Amino acid sequence: LSTRAATILNALDLPTNTEIPGVYDGAWRGSGDLLESKCPTTGEVLGRVKMASPKELHEVLDKTREAYRYIRSVPAPKRGEILRQVREALAAKRDELGALVSLEMGKIKTEGQGEVQEFVDICDYAVGLSRMMNGRVVASERPGHSILEVANPLGVVSVLTAFNFPVAVYGWNFALSFAAGNATIWKPSETTPLCAVAVTKIIAQMLEKNGIPGAVSALVTGDKCTGEAITESRDVDLVSFTGSEHVGRIVGKTVQSRFGKVLLELGGNNASIIMPDADMNLALPAVFFGAIGTAGQRCTSTRRLYLHRSIADEFLTKLRRLYSTVRVGDPLADSTLLGPLHTTKAVETYAAAIGHLRSIGAEIITGGERYLDSPLDQGNFVQPTISIPKSANPADKIWRTETFAPVLNVGIFDELEQAIEWNNNVPQGLSSSLWTRDIRNVGKWIGPAGSDAGIVNVNVGTSGAEIGAAFGGNKSTGWGRESGGDAWKQYVRWSACTINFSDAAPLAQGVDFSI
Ligand code: NAD
Repeated sequence: LSTRAATILNALDLPTNTEIPGVYDGAWRGSGDLLESKCPTTGEVLGRVKMASPKELHEVLDKTREAYRYIRSVPAPKRGEILRQVREALAAKRDELGALVSLEMGKIKTEGQGEVQEFVDICDYAVGLSRMMNGRVVASERPGHSILEVANPLGVVSVLTAFNFPVAVYGWNFALSFAAGNATIWKPSETTPLCAVAVTKIIAQMLEKNGIPGAVSALVTGDKCTGEAITESRDVDLVSFTGSEHVGRIVGKTVQSRFGKVLLELGGNNASIIMPDADMNLALPAVFFGAIGTAGQRCTSTRRLYLHRSIADEFLTKLRRLYSTVRVGDPLADSTLLGPLHTTKAVETYAAAIGHLRSIGAEIITGGERYLDSPLDQGNFVQPTISIPKSANPADKIWRTETFAPVLNVGIFDELEQAIEWNNNVPQGLSSSLWTRDIRNVGKWIGPAGSDAGIVNVNVGTSGAEIGAAFGGNKSTGWGRESGGDAWKQYVRWSACTINFSDAAPLAQGVDFSI
């Protein structure tokens, strides 16, 4: 192992010379197959993690059920206090954990740290929520009656996560789920097991210090089969899944078929629309970051750029110039803006998308190749690409498919209505962004005939949401909402309780059933 990788792993208490147990439910173990974590920058193997065996998964499910029975009776503000301590522990390791995200996932340093910050932020939010997860008192039509809407803990929540946010997405779910009084079981991506073990160690320390069963934040490192077993298990009350549309469709159907609760956060295909009156000095860097940031591996990455005809040439000239300045390389180097793709398979997907663009006669105005010079040839580095397909017709595959790589497709429009139609006319509905200074355009964009995405921004790029609002997308993005807003309401079970304080027992709607 390189000295640098060893230093990062050691700082997070991850062993470098032995196999790492990938299962936690109060005790660490792992007797399933080995997962290899590979660095996307250098190709080196960072660690070998022991997955959960099927038997261990069942043991962990039993333990999480027990832990749920314990934690549901701990008063919510007391749970908030534990979360506050988790928040402090994460903040203290922000730089180290951020570095591990860069090392294992491949995103640049500030984005890795930002991801840990997002976990810290959602803990803050959930600490507040722990005193505010209120129900309601509803007016009854019957004298001497009260109706309450009561929120109680839900049970066991399983969180299945994608590779591209190996820390924050668990954070969004765990913080709300824990504040709500649930036990949470995490199945991380099979390509980012080290981040999951490191995060779980930090949380576990705080739980154990407070005498809370570790299985309230259990970990089962595993692959597709582990994910399937969790999805099928009736011991899991809510499955919160973040990942591709393809897998989300399977997960959604499986959980539905056993009438479990499911929350889906799936792929995006996000557009930015630039009007002639946009402030180009703001729009250009936002599109640049949206399309290239995290090497195009955010669910909210800008994949489609719709330019008004009158500014299209000028905008593209300036954007190309910006692309030519991108500093590509080691994600842990301070100056780097573009790191590698996460896996060699992702490089193949990128190459296939470029091949398809060429085959349909799209003009590739920049990029389109791998970086093959040393040392970039050691990793999964690809050139950020801008293409202009011949047609902007959203029916074409290229406009309808999420390619998880830095490929930006450009279309030219004449009227805002046309651009909104293109924006909406794809299966996905995650993020969208309009650049204008005209309030009338803003009204159209956020109104009934406007963008149908879950995130509808104005003079803000598609990427980089804060935790305060509910995050998620519509249509084939799955309709799930996580993080802020009312997202917490999905992590509890609601009951309507009608209580009669009177000496009579009248029926609702005046129904007479006298005997
Ligand atoms: P993926 O769908 O390949 O994997 C996601 C998770 O599902 C992994 O933990 C994987 O092990 C597990 N899995 C695979 N097959 C399964 C099955 N049959 N049953 C149960 N679990 C199974 O996704 P990925 O490549 O890791 O992540 C990229 C995708 O995630 C992109 O589409 C991206 O847009 C999406 N994403 C969405 C959001 C959002 O909030 N909407 C956030 C991040 C990523």
